[in-house]
Amino acid sequence: MSQLDIDVLTIFPDMVRQALPYGILRRAQEAGKLAVEVHDLRRWGIGSSRQVDDSPFGGGGGMVMRPEPIFAGVAAIEMGAVPGRRRRILLSPRGRRLQQVDLARLADLERVLLICGRYEGVDERVCEHLVDEEISIGDYVVSGGELPALVLIEGLARLLPGVLGDPLGASKDSFAAGSLDWPTWTRPATFKGLPVPDVLLSGDHMRIAKWREDKSLELTRERRPDLLQKGGEGLESVEKKPKLIHGRTGR
Ligand code: SAH
Repeated sequence: MSQLDIDVLTIFPDMVRQALPYGILRRAQEAGKLAVEVHDLRRWGIGSSRQVDDSPFGGGGGMVMRPEPIFAGVAAIEMGAVPGRRRRILLSPRGRRLQQVDLARLADLERVLLICGRYEGVDERVCEHLVDEEISIGDYVVSGGELPALVLIEGLARLLPGVLGDPLGASKDSFAAGSLDWPTWTRPATFKGLPVPDVLLSGDHMRIAKWREDKSLELTRERRPDLLQKGGEGLESVEKKPKLIHGRTGR
C-alpha cells in the first residue's frame, strides 16, 4: 500500500499540527495513505538562542531566514531515507502559482518536504541550491508558509487513492476536468419559498447529468473563461510538468 510522506519544516510546528486531525486530513492519515511529520526549525537554530534569522545584507528592513538551520534541518530529516520519488518545496509568493495539475503531480510522489518561510523570506541560497521548486498559493502575501503548506497538504490528501468516500469525488471537483463544479442543492426541496431546480427531482439520471454538464460549462464561461481556452493556464501547466526527480540538474 502506498503512502505519501510529508515533512514540514517550520518555526511554528504547532500551527501546522493543529490542523491535521480534522476531516479528510484525519481520514487520510488514519487510513495509512498519508503521514505528516512536522519539524521545529529551531532544533537546528544557531547558538544558545537557536537563532534562525538575521538582517539582510545590503540593508533594508525586516529579517531574513538564515540558510544553515534550513540546510541542517533538511539533511537531518532526509538522513537514512531511501531515495525515491521525492521533492523539496519552498512555499513562496515568488513560486509557481499552485493549480490542480500540480497537486495531481505531487500526489504521485512518495515523499514531499515543505519548507515554511517567515519574516521577509529565506536566504536565496535555499531557493537556488536546496529546493526543487517554489510554490505560491496565490498572488497575495501572507506572513508565513504554514497556512500555504496546509493548503497544499489538504489539496494532496483528497487526491490520494481511497481517501475520499466517493471514488469519483476528486475527479469531478472544480478544475480537475478543466471547468468549475456544477451548483448543488440538498433538502429541503423548498426553502424560504426558494425551490430546487425541477430537473434534479425528476429522477431522470441522463437528463440530470446533461443539465449539470451544461451548468458547469455555463458557470465556467461566465466566471472563468480562461479555463476553457486552449492554451489557458491549466493546459499550459500540464505541458510544463517538471520532471519527478529529486536533486538539481544543471545548476
Ligand atoms: N517578502 C516576501 C514575502 C515574505 S512572507 C515577498 O514579498 O515575496 C513570509 C513567508 O510567508 C514566505 O517566505 C513564504 O514562505 C510565506 N508566504 C507568504 N505568501 C505566500 C504565498 N502566497 N504562497 C506561499 N507562501 C507564502
